[in-house]
Amino acid sequence: MPQQQSLFDTSPPVWELDDAEQRRVARVVLSSGPAGEFDYLVPDQFADARKPEFLAEAGRRVSVPLGRGDRAVVGYCVDVSVTTTGGRKLKSLAGVLDASPLLSPRMLELGQWIADYYMTPLGQVLECILPAGVRGKAGTRETTLFSVPTKVAARLTTLELPEKQLAVLKVLAGSTKPLTMKQLMMRAECTSGPINTLRKKELIASRVERIDTDPLLDQEFTRRGPMTLNPAQVAALKSITAALDSRRPRTMLLHGVTGSGKTEVYIQAIEKVVSFGRQAIVLVPEISLTPQTVGRFRERFDRVAVLHSHQSDVERHRQWKRIASGDVQVVVGARSAIFAPTPHLGLVVIDEEHETSFKQDTAPRYHARDVALERTRMDKVPLVLGSATPSLETWQAAQSGQYELISMPDRVSNLPLPEVRAVDLRREEHRQGSRGAISRPLSQAMTVALADGGQVMLLLNRRGYSTHVQCPACGFALKCPDCDVSMVYHRQANHVVCHWCDRTEPPPTYCPDCKDANIRYGGFGTQKLEAEVAARFPNHPVLRMDTDSMRRPGSHEQALDSFRNGEVDILLGTQMIAKGLDFPNVTLVGVVNADTSLHFPDFRAAERTFHLVTQVAGRTGRGERGGRVLVQTLSPDHPAIVAAMNHDYEGFAASELPEREMLGYPPYGRMARLVIRGPVDKVTLAVGDDLAAKVREACREVRVIGPAPCTIAKLRNLFRYHILVVAPNRETLRTALAPLAGKLKLPEDVQWIVDIDPIDMM
Ligand code: ADP
Ligand code: ZN
Repeated sequence: MPQQQSLFDTSPPVWELDDAEQRRVARVVLSSGPAGEFDYLVPDQFADARKPEFLAEAGRRVSVPLGRGDRAVVGYCVDVSVTTTGGRKLKSLAGVLDASPLLSPRMLELGQWIADYYMTPLGQVLECILPAGVRGKAGTRETTLFSVPTKVAARLTTLELPEKQLAVLKVLAGSTKPLTMKQLMMRAECTSGPINTLRKKELIASRVERIDTDPLLDQEFTRRGPMTLNPAQVAALKSITAALDSRRPRTMLLHGVTGSGKTEVYIQAIEKVVSFGRQAIVLVPEISLTPQTVGRFRERFDRVAVLHSHQSDVERHRQWKRIASGDVQVVVGARSAIFAPTPHLGLVVIDEEHETSFKQDTAPRYHARDVALERTRMDKVPLVLGSATPSLETWQAAQSGQYELISMPDRVSNLPLPEVRAVDLRREEHRQGSRGAISRPLSQAMTVALADGGQVMLLLNRRGYSTHVQCPACGFALKCPDCDVSMVYHRQANHVVCHWCDRTEPPPTYCPDCKDANIRYGGFGTQKLEAEVAARFPNHPVLRMDTDSMRRPGSHEQALDSFRNGEVDILLGTQMIAKGLDFPNVTLVGVVNADTSLHFPDFRAAERTFHLVTQVAGRTGRGERGGRVLVQTLSPDHPAIVAAMNHDYEGFAASELPEREMLGYPPYGRMARLVIRGPVDKVTLAVGDDLAAKVREACREVRVIGPAPCTIAKLRNLFRYHILVVAPNRETLRTALAPLAGKLKLPEDVQWIVDIDPIDMM
């Protein structure tokens, strides 16, 4: 959590200049250190058009002297102008670091908007826009990859080796693909020593390879032509093409149920964009960025680039250069792909626009959807937001006519939406014969579905085995000593772990407080559910998908493949399984506990629950055999659950929006969240009080809630408080937060951040 205020007091002036003389001045922001813009004189050697590689111009990085000691720091040149210095004393640029601009004027403009809107220093924003590989000029490099020769693997158990070397061999033998030195050292938790020894003993093989490939672009695919659109798709495409032809910025909400064929509409719209010689950016949630998704675009376009956060610096740099050269037709990527340097942007599509992963949770805390709105407005091109369950912000904008609404209410080829039923967990008969997480109706439905040769998906949004450890004798609950959260028991690893700071400890066998031996492991996580399913359905292979079981690279795809090809009958997991997957043979989906997300202390809890149930329900009924969904809940009458059961998005919006309006919450008002953290509880709270008072003082029209302890009141030994600022509109919010933009005197160790349009309320 970086501090928002400047860390140093700096004043760059040095040279005395004649007031009236015209000089070339570069405006520079720093990539780290003090915020703000600094002016430097451009020496003649950096102003010579005959030597373009040394030209100081906007969008390039420069080296500048800073502070009293003239420490050399790196900054971005954001403007060069010829002006009078007005008597100011200026230092000179020390060097130009890039042979050509890394950022176009448009991207600088967008960066400035982000800096203002999200109250983040411009230098920090530009660092975020430019991937590390581009800043560092990562080239294609060669890397040594290690593997175990088969003849060694065969006698692995009989080898007598020191522990460390054996660990290395085990890691390598267990990996589906060769590993680099770095990966191997990390996973075997060793230095390069044992690895080099094994290499000398010829127990591991090595080969040198260029690692400039991405698994998402590796896969083979067959080229396809366009599909014949159904009438709803034709109408949707027509609206988008009209917007493209108008050459004006226009935002459209493509509200189409899961399986309504939105992707085909995007693709045909992009075909049109490409025919004008322009490029399109398609944003999808990181989790949906699979070879399957990318493949749908690669089947239809010759030149597709992919940008995502798991890419190596080298690969990102390569993709970035290809895009900037204009060679790429379509960029498919996660959140940060909104910064793709397309030279002639023609269209931006955001699929699953309601997904919270489009918001970045570190500074700059931008939302890709709002950045896309701004970028398309600047470039005068349309923006298409697609979703089966739009965010209420987007829905409200479409209702008020600000966005154009395009509806695709039916599934392709008119497959019916699945039947969704609630299982009321309060009813005794549902629990009879079931001490586990699976109620009788769900168990029966599973038996029927599996007997018919169908596949089953079970959603449980909690990982681990037991989600809490408690002593019935004294009421003691096992919490992380550093964080204010329960420790979760993981059976495979046989430890308790804090899901927030990853601290692990051996599981207690008696109460640490009263020494009672009856300490209980309660609550259901995915591991316990897996055990229960395996016990109840011993003849049906089950697979668990959560961040614990999907650590190895490629394991996600591998798991989905084994489910797709029928090796696995039952797939269970966290929300990882809820999104975007298309399996025609899934005839039953069970939501094991719909209440976990419903009771979150967050004004979007109902919206999240509605999204989750609807999304996971969309995973079934995709084939001819139809499908059904069972939702286990203690609140079957909750409007979010009732609406999800009826596939009634509009009904949900109609019940939820008035509540938001009453409280002045988004989409009706604007919100900012301040989070303050520090090692001493009282001091942290006092800073919170102080910030809240400043905000209240600056503007009377805003509601200031707090400071109050965050839901996670302590994290990694730091106390946390938050303040919510609710304003009727953006301008008022800006006024209220204005005092925070300046320098604030705070006790050492206390840090604070501001999150505009917050999504994370923990
Ligand atoms: P969505 O993105 O709305 O969930 P998809 O684009 O994934 O829907 O489409 C669902 C399925 O329907 C896909 O398998 C897709 O290939 C198929 N499909 C889409 N449009 C058509 C069409 N016009 N004719 C036949 N099949 C189609
Ligand atoms: Zn912790």
